[in-house]
Amino acid sequence: MAACDRPRGGDHDRGVALAETGADATPSIPSGIPCDDDHGFRVGRFTIGREFVIIAGPCAVESESQLLATARAVRDAGAHMLRGGAFKPRTSPRSFQGLGEAGLELLRNARAATGLPIVTEVMDARQLDAVLSCADILQVGSRNMQNFTLLKELGRVDRPVLLKRGMSATLEEWLGAAEYILDGGNSRVVLCERGIRTFGSTTRNTLDLAIVPLAKQRSGLPVIVDPSHATGRPDLILPMSLAAAAAGADGLLIEVHEDPPHALCDREQQITPAALGEVVRQVTELLVHLTRNDPQVPPPS
Ligand code: PEP
Ligand code: MN
Repeated sequence: MAACDRPRGGDHDRGVALAETGADATPSIPSGIPCDDDHGFRVGRFTIGREFVIIAGPCAVESESQLLATARAVRDAGAHMLRGGAFKPRTSPRSFQGLGEAGLELLRNARAATGLPIVTEVMDARQLDAVLSCADILQVGSRNMQNFTLLKELGRVDRPVLLKRGMSATLEEWLGAAEYILDGGNSRVVLCERGIRTFGSTTRNTLDLAIVPLAKQRSGLPVIVDPSHATGRPDLILPMSLAAAAAGADGLLIEVHEDPPHALCDREQQITPAALGEVVRQVTELLVHLTRNDPQVPPPS
């Protein structure tokens, strides 16, 4: 498969530096130096696969004030990119479905206000043009991992794709889905482990950390971890973020809300910006420790 033609080796070497945060931070990789495929790809001033990238923000875009407040707070807490769903795949049709195109407009405004690149979900090929007008990375949700029509369309676009693992997808199925995008000519795919369904019921899903180094070895693609959907519990975000970083993940996708108890979607699992700040601080410390011989690793912001 195309993805397997690009192995990155054992990949337990921590060649991943924490991306710099803050408007005045000096990027660890000078801008203008292109990265080859073996070392990731650029999104804004970050290089996914080479720098450890923290993507944070609400499950759903709910309102202008909610998004802007959360966007500023996650930026100040050290996040590198803003996530937020405008189109939401919900189990019940009576649950909040997202603001749709109005939500995309709010995301565009949040990017202008904060400078953070935007990660947002596209659920259907018919939404693609609208989502492309706003997203720096197109997220494909678990429920759509095998929406082959959508994956083929994403192979034709000039935008990175964050491909979440399906609810109970095997490694083969996940990489097969990635291959649909790669085969179309879009090589900028990042995989996202977000937990799978198992017999265990103590957490929302079961975080499968072993798949992180395996998926990297097999595909050569960057792999990030979403501890929010994997655990469904705010108190597990910090330990699982540390575990993901130690397991070789290339970044994190974390749900953050300025007022979690009043979130319209996934309120049980969203953390506060202050809690995110602690995740960034401890993950940075861990990465500095793991890569202590690498002078490129910047200090926490
Ligand atoms: C999300 O990221 O908000 C989401 C719906 O995630 P998943 O597709 O992993 O369930
Ligand atoms: Mn969610």
